[in-house]
Amino acid sequence: MRAMVINGEYPESFSCVNCGSSEGLMGYSDEKNGVICQNCFPHMRGKRLMESTIYAMQYVTAAPLEKLYTFLLTPEVEKEFCSMQERFRKKLIDRDFKTLEILNTLQI
Ligand SMILES: [Zn+2]
Repeated sequence: MRAMVINGEYPESFSCVNCGSSEGLMGYSDEKNGVICQNCFPHMRGKRLMESTIYAMQYVTAAPLEKLYTFLLTPEVEKEFCSMQERFRKKLIDRDFKTLEILNTLQI
């Protein structure tokens, strides 16, 4: 998870991926790989996130490495946080597989 942050492969969690607002963040867009605010949420096919999950995402992105595991999540936040991470990872893996397939095709 942290490796993705270092590589710059991490969902945007500080401002709305649609309008750039940092207030009223309440959802997540798989399509745009980041959080969306309450104004944009109704217009986008996003998944609703708890505020705590968004905080957790921000914390993981911004925290120094040694502080990364010093925070605790409630079970429901952890569940949502983990499923969000899982979907993001799958998406990256899918994309990498496609790149690999293209490379393999080119090498024939
Ligand atoms: Zn917005």
